[in-house]
Amino acid sequence: SVFGYKDFSTQAKIDQTFLAVPDAKLAGEELKTLTAVPHIASSKEDYATAQYVAKKFKAAGLETTIVPYKVWLNLPAESKITATTADGKPLMSGPTPEHVSHDPFQDDPRVIMPFNGSSASGDVTADVVYANYGRPEDFQKLADAGIDIAGKIVIVRYGMNFRGVKAYIAQEKHAAGLVIYSDPADDGYFRGDKYPNGPYRPDTGVQRGSIQYMFKYPGDPTTPGIASTPDLPMSKRIPPSQATSQPTIPSIPISYHDAAPILEAMKGATVPHGWQGALPFTYHLGGAGAVKVHLVLKQDYQYRTIWDVIGKIPGTEAPNDWVVAGNHRDAWVYGAVDPNSGTAAMLESVHGIGELLKQGWRPRRTIVFASWDAEEEGLIGSTEWAEGHADELAHAVAYFNTDVGVSGPNFDASAVPSLKEFIRQVTKEVPSPKGGSVYDQWKKQQDQRPALGVQEHASKESAHLDNDVEIGDLGSGSDFTPFIQHLGVPSSDIGSGGPYGVYHSVFDNYAWFTMNADPTFVYEQEMARVFGLEVLHMADADVLPYDYVTYAREIEEYIGAAKKKAQTEGLTLDTSAAEDATKQFLAAAKAIKAKQDHPSGNDAALNTSLRATEGDFLSAAGLPNRPWFKHTVYAPGEYTGYAAVVIPGVNEALDAKKAEQAQAQLAVLTEAIQRAAATLEKAG
Ligand code: GLU
Ligand code: ZN
Ligand code: ZN
Repeated sequence: SVFGYKDFSTQAKIDQTFLAVPDAKLAGEELKTLTAVPHIASSKEDYATAQYVAKKFKAAGLETTIVPYKVWLNLPAESKITATTADGKPLMSGPTPEHVSHDPFQDDPRVIMPFNGSSASGDVTADVVYANYGRPEDFQKLADAGIDIAGKIVIVRYGMNFRGVKAYIAQEKHAAGLVIYSDPADDGYFRGDKYPNGPYRPDTGVQRGSIQYMFKYPGDPTTPGIASTPDLPMSKRIPPSQATSQPTIPSIPISYHDAAPILEAMKGATVPHGWQGALPFTYHLGGAGAVKVHLVLKQDYQYRTIWDVIGKIPGTEAPNDWVVAGNHRDAWVYGAVDPNSGTAAMLESVHGIGELLKQGWRPRRTIVFASWDAEEEGLIGSTEWAEGHADELAHAVAYFNTDVGVSGPNFDASAVPSLKEFIRQVTKEVPSPKGGSVYDQWKKQQDQRPALGVQEHASKESAHLDNDVEIGDLGSGSDFTPFIQHLGVPSSDIGSGGPYGVYHSVFDNYAWFTMNADPTFVYEQEMARVFGLEVLHMADADVLPYDYVTYAREIEEYIGAAKKKAQTEGLTLDTSAAEDATKQFLAAAKAIKAKQDHPSGNDAALNTSLRATEGDFLSAAGLPNRPWFKHTVYAPGEYTGYAAVVIPGVNEALDAKKAEQAQAQLAVLTEAIQRAAATLEKAG
């Protein structure tokens, strides 16, 4: 079997016992408890959710600890935006409180005012320029139109990239400030009915969010590479002003209710094709002095305490080989979808595994469940814990993530190539509420509509190597990043998606969830089963079920694509050594597959090699200018943030038209592939 079990009948019984436990109704109750009040990272309400999760872990029989870290975080002391015409006539003043006709959660005084995590403080007044989605090509178009954004306030819309990338480019170009708004074209009324009549963003809904430059490094900005334990001396921390993950530009997120009067009054050229949003007037580029925007942003930066919850089940045969499964718990406000739909699913996975423990089952490898804190501010709880456990994680066999567990009925996944077939097989074992298996529905949905669903994290750029269900590449935007891209732990991310227009707003709450996402919590149950089976199968497999044949084929494609890109751009790139290494890796992967298919019952050495192969893809030096990112095959793009850039050293050098650097990075990649091939050959 693909799971690498010698005795499949025993495993099938374990699976059946587990699958019977995750309960829809209980998941609903857990979600309701977790999301009863706002619980932003470092708040006392956040700590209460940590205690709740710890209680659930303990009840299931996990060895549970609440692990605190002390990390550099901002909360908003003051956020103000006003706009006037050139002759001083007021246009708007905000932010307007998030409010709809009826919502049971919107008036809680603990709802945090809209702000951007990692924003600078500032008091700036300037002319305003519209830069569409704030992508490199958008800023280029402004430059081509003769508009200099230096000293201006830039207004951009959400979508297409990570908001931190918008800030990064605006800062590079010396903008004075940044305003990021949600256009109704992207997640508001242009898409469908808005909350409370539907799932889309209402006029006053604001997407909060971090603009931390996590594509430099995530986690506590003052401790790249090390854990921010409460007793870490200040001498081991870098001053925040020197942290390259910290923006220096002041930035604020606003609603389309507040953005509309600004955009409508702007003059200058009408926008190029593709820049017009769905507000009922013609958009202009601005920069013509017609509108002045005044930002007053005061950030309260402090070292604040956050709390991960860690629950362990010691393995019987290979206790030092961990299977880690995690989800973040902190939310900008209530976080019914993001992230506590994932938390409720994880709690029901733990419930199921707890039932197995009660019946006397013990895993072969150690299972670690993690409830991360401060993901929203920049993957902080997961990064600090991963950095602090780098030695143990150097041989951890997998990291399974779920963040937005359920926003609707469409299952989706991203993973390293070695885990793609593993995930497909897991989903074949889990029934779908729509009939058939999760896999059947997933395939059907992909056949009908290839790019369905609003996905927060996943990139869909993965190579099409067969006609099977496509699984995306891991970029960033959630807690898998430290595991795969810093430490080389084989990782995946799963979720079940649907129309979701209230992301990071007060309206991502239990009322929205039960109206729009999963009224009877059957998709919660589905996700609990998939997540739990991932863990069980990985913990108990005789032979680790990594598929390196697919890995080799994907790398082959990436190198082929880079070669073509170099040719198109007229850059010299000799790919012959990389191609040879990949052929060698593919041959070794095929040979090892034969051994994986026939477990001997004494496979410890084989497993060590199989796991070491992923680690071989790390380079000690990391990527140019961002040494924290050590994986040579996958990284978040410096100019995409969420979406993955494959063979990033090579591709980013080519994009910057640096042929020599591309060649040098290809040599680093080639050595990594050679190491991986040699590891598999020795084991074969
Ligand atoms: N998932 C969060 C977001 O998309 C955090 C991403 C990050 O900082 O890496 O806003
Ligand atoms: Zn999240
Ligand atoms: Zn989020």
